Amino acid sequence: MSVLIVGSTALDSIKTPTRENPRLLGGSASHAAVAASFFSPVKLIGVVGQDFPKKYIQLYQRHKIDLSGLQILPGKTFHWSGEYELNMNNRRTLATELGVFETFNPTLPKAHQQTQFVLLANIAPALQHHVLDQMRKPKFVVADTMDLWLNIAMKDLMKLLPRVDGFVLNDSEAAQLTKADNLFVALKKIHQLGPKYVIIKKGSHGSVLSGPKGVFICPAYPLHTVEDPTGAGDSFVGGMMGYLATAKGSVDANIRRAMVYGSVTASFCCEGFGLTATTRTKRADIEKRVKELEKLTKF
Ligand code: AMP
Repeated sequence: MSVLIVGSTALDSIKTPTRENPRLLGGSASHAAVAASFFSPVKLIGVVGQDFPKKYIQLYQRHKIDLSGLQILPGKTFHWSGEYELNMNNRRTLATELGVFETFNPTLPKAHQQTQFVLLANIAPALQHHVLDQMRKPKFVVADTMDLWLNIAMKDLMKLLPRVDGFVLNDSEAAQLTKADNLFVALKKIHQLGPKYVIIKKGSHGSVLSGPKGVFICPAYPLHTVEDPTGAGDSFVGGMMGYLATAKGSVDANIRRAMVYGSVTASFCCEGFGLTATTRTKRADIEKRVKELEKLTKF
């Protein structure tokens, strides 16, 4: 089974304390789609401008990502730039230029509407609704978000949550949304907003799932150096959805292992700027790290 992914398809300009890289392929949907492609076929829904480099289209194609839902419109591709502090955890947005995103109206090709696994990656909640409206009885829908939407689109987000099976957000966003500093209290409060599965990401400290089978603590792969963590969260959820789409059995039976695969895929993302390290990764590299994590967490 395949995964349908909608989100941002962007050019990212990223500054770290030691390096600077302009206009790399980025966006929540790009990171999630490449991560998911290690495990299942992917259908990408997004928009880029005419300035979008051909080499990035070729990169999607190398990962066999279905681009029939990618619109190429007159105008500029969404451009985001951000700068990391010394600790590589704190990041501030320097600029967001919406470009063709300003008028983006995702229309799904007919064949896409039957997709069973749907990832509403980080994008305006109104667009996430719009995509979900076009789906026919999907089996498992997960939404991601960011602090911006908690600040400016809370109403739309609140309407979205009862419509999704799973919701993924990071620890500071969970605290902002629920006004609870305790992560386990926050998980409980988010369930009350609708989703059956809630995952809170904690950056280099892994993530925590709360679902029908209780709580699961998912480790992060222990990296010694982080080149650029941009897109790690998107790679995590993309890898998880790709794994779930092809795993035999129920979501309940597979979601813990799927999170571990997502976590390992995200670790590769952090080892290079933008998507450079992720695209070099092979499925065998992922399997090796999953085995290492298994050893590290067994007791
Ligand atoms: P992450 O590091 O997982 O938080 O995701 C970083 C990605 O989010 C970058 O590749 C950006 O292009 C993308 N991004 C930044 N701001 C926005 C936004 N307002 N809407 C959608 N995507 C965004």
